[in-house]
Amino acid sequence: MKKIAVLTSGGDAPGMNAAVRAVVRKAIHAGVEVVGVNRGYAGVIEGDFIKLDKNSVSDIIDRGGTFLRSARCDEFRTPEGRAKGAEQLRKEGIEGLIVIGGDGSFTGATLLTNETGIKTVGVPATIDNDIACTDDSIGYDTAMNTIIDAITKIRDTASSHERAFVIEAMGRHAGFLTLAAGLAGGAEAILVPEMKFNIDEVCNNIQAGYEAGKIHAIILVAEGVEIEGQEFTTNRDVNQSNAFIIGKELNERTGFETRVSILGHIQRGGAPTGRDRLLASRLGAAAVDALLAGETNKMVGLVHNRINIAEIKDAIEGNKEFDEELYQLANILSI
Ligand code: ATP
Repeated sequence: MKKIAVLTSGGDAPGMNAAVRAVVRKAIHAGVEVVGVNRGYAGVIEGDFIKLDKNSVSDIIDRGGTFLRSARCDEFRTPEGRAKGAEQLRKEGIEGLIVIGGDGSFTGATLLTNETGIKTVGVPATIDNDIACTDDSIGYDTAMNTIIDAITKIRDTASSHERAFVIEAMGRHAGFLTLAAGLAGGAEAILVPEMKFNIDEVCNNIQAGYEAGKIHAIILVAEGVEIEGQEFTTNRDVNQSNAFIIGKELNERTGFETRVSILGHIQRGGAPTGRDRLLASRLGAAAVDALLAGETNKMVGLVHNRINIAEIKDAIEGNKEFDEELYQLANILSI
C-alpha cells in the first residue's frame, strides 16, 4: 500500500487531532503517503483531499475538535454516494481509508468496503464511550474530566446556598460517561438509561441526606434516561429535558431548593487529557499497522491495555456491557 487517507466523522471528540497526527507520522515512518479528507464523508464524495506531511500535524496533539473538520453526510448513506466516494479515492490513488468516528461512521466504512473493495479501518472516537470491542473511545476521558470539573464548581455554589443541583451529562442513549463522572465526582445520585430508577426513591434518599445534615446534593443525569411518558431525542427543546422534570420533583419533595444545569457542548470541547492523547496515538498508529498488514473491515481498540483488532461489524452491532458493579459501588459511596 503506497497511499492511504484519513478522515474524522460524526460528532467531534477531543483527541481526534492526536489520532490524525499518529496516523500521519506512523504512515510516514512506514514510507506511505497520507491524504487528509476534509469534512468526513462529504469530503470523500467531493474529493476534498489535502496532502498531509509531518508538519501538517505539528502543534495539534493538544487541540480539541478536529482540524480536518467533521460533517454529517446523508449522500453517503446511499450506494450511489458511496460509489462516487470510491471513485474519488481511486482517482487519487488511495488504497486504504482510516475512519475516526463513532458507530454511524463505521457503518459507512463497512458498506464502502463491501460495495467497492476500498479497504477501511475504524478508530473509535466518541465521548459517549458506547462502542463495543474497546474499553475506551477517544474523547471519553476528556469529557469525563470536564464533567468532574463542572461538578466541583457547581458543588461550591450548591453548598454556599444549600441547594440541590440536577446536572445533565451527554451520552445519548448510553450512561457510561455519566456513571464514571458521577462516581469520580462524588455525585449523591447517578441516573442512567441502563438502570431503572424510581423517582420516589431518589427523592427520599436526597431528603434523608438533607435531614442528616448534607448541605448540598448533586444528581447527575444522563441525557438518555427514560422517564415514563418522555421520549428521548437529541433534538429536543432543552426545556423538555428530563433533568428539568427531575429537578421539579426534587424541589417539590425535598427540603432542597433545586437548580438544573445542562452541561451541553462544553463536554465535547477542550484540550484532550494525557490519557486521551495516549489512546489516540496508540490507536492511530495501530490503524496504519492494520491497513498495511492487509486488514480491512476492522476496528482497532484497546482491551486490557492491549491493542485489539476487531471485526468492525462486531464493534457496530455489539452491545457494550454496562458495569453494574461500578454503578452499585457509586450508590454505596454516595451516602
Ligand atoms: P457519534 O457517535 O459521535 O454521533 P457517529 O459516527 O455515530 O458519531 P453519525 O452522525 O451517526 O455519527 O455518522 C456520521 C456519518 O457516517 C453520517 O453523516 C453518514 O455520512 C455516515 N453514516 C452513518 N450511518 C450510516 C449508514 N447507515 N450508512 C452509510 N453511512 C452512514
